[in-house]
Amino acid sequence: LQIDIQTLSKTYPLYLGNGLIEKLPSIIESVKSNLSSVLIITDSAVDSYYGEAVVKAIETKFKVAKYVVPSGEHAKSFQHYYDCQTFALEQQLDRNALVIAFGGGVVGDLAGFVAATYMRGISFIQVPTTLLAHDSAVGGKVAINHELGKNMIGAFYQPEAVVYDIDLLKTLPEREWRSGFAEVIKHAFIHDEAFYEWLQQNIQSLTDLQDEKLIYAIQNGILVKASVVKEDETEAGVRAHLNFGHTLGHAIEAECGYGQISHGEGVAIGMLFAMKVSNVLEKSQFSVDDIAKWFEKFGYKTSVPNHLSAEKLLVRMKADKKSKSSNVHMVLLEGIGKPFVQQVEDEVILKLLNEELKA
Ligand code: NAD
Ligand code: ZN
Repeated sequence: LQIDIQTLSKTYPLYLGNGLIEKLPSIIESVKSNLSSVLIITDSAVDSYYGEAVVKAIETKFKVAKYVVPSGEHAKSFQHYYDCQTFALEQQLDRNALVIAFGGGVVGDLAGFVAATYMRGISFIQVPTTLLAHDSAVGGKVAINHELGKNMIGAFYQPEAVVYDIDLLKTLPEREWRSGFAEVIKHAFIHDEAFYEWLQQNIQSLTDLQDEKLIYAIQNGILVKASVVKEDETEAGVRAHLNFGHTLGHAIEAECGYGQISHGEGVAIGMLFAMKVSNVLEKSQFSVDDIAKWFEKFGYKTSVPNHLSAEKLLVRMKADKKSKSSNVHMVLLEGIGKPFVQQVEDEVILKLLNEELKA
């Protein structure tokens, strides 16, 4: 299955299916001529499962080196970024080298930023290995973290191709399935009512995400992301809709301490909250309780963890980098597939948060 990802700066293919690792050498050949050598950047977990197989596949045709960073968000640090560049220089990679980002969103963001900046930019390919990476591998946002904020140092830099081999997802821990699936649901909510209905009818647990249904779900999630990116590569307008569920989601992640609650689990609570806000502002009539019941089947928490404080969450929501002033701007929905951005009064947010915290 091939999807063309169109952006202003370029169009590139995304391949989705089984057994694609073996096809990597021919895919590389088709997207990049005059290739000198390949640098695989991966993390320790992905490396332990698939490192050897990928190196073996690629070295049938190209000179290849591999650099392994620790698994987890911490790899998106200046230190690991610097170490990747040092390794690339020691390997004498030149401007015709190609970076393969082989891992989840963390490796995609890190390796993409390494590629964007090494010798003013060399080619790279995304080979995502998590469900969440159906989101992060499309769109060309690459970044590392700064002590003062997540994803603060980065670039818009598109890959030459995305190669999404769903066989690699078999080893993904349940927690990561749950985190990634929230973004699949998000894509349906913001853009595609028919896809949302398909999900509701066909996916009742994470174990329903087996090959055929999994490919359909990922494909449609990617199509939504791709269409948003096509319209708005650098985030002036509709790209903001991707932030649905994230204003509160990010605040919960930060208040709980990163790693305590996964990104997708925070987003799941945030999406339900955004629908409540939409209802209260009389923009919509969602049956939030029914949607929450469906969410529970996947093991999501459906309300704000009750050890958190509404006031502190509000402060975080205001600090969210996507809100332009001291007011909270949220992505709300008029209905499935009908997002809009609106400023929401503090009182409305505090009242709804406190209701959840008391329940
Ligand atoms: P991740 O890359 O840390 O992967 C999650 C965990 O799963 C890690 O421990 C990893 O080692 C492990 N893992 C990965 N693939 C595996 C596999 N096939 N089998 C077993 N274990 C595997 O996290 P993620 O959720 O994929 O991505 C989160 C990151 O993505 C965040 O840093 C976030 O900022 C970024 N992100 C970026 C964008 C974007 O547009 N660039 C969008 C969304 C998220
Ligand atoms: Zn997200």
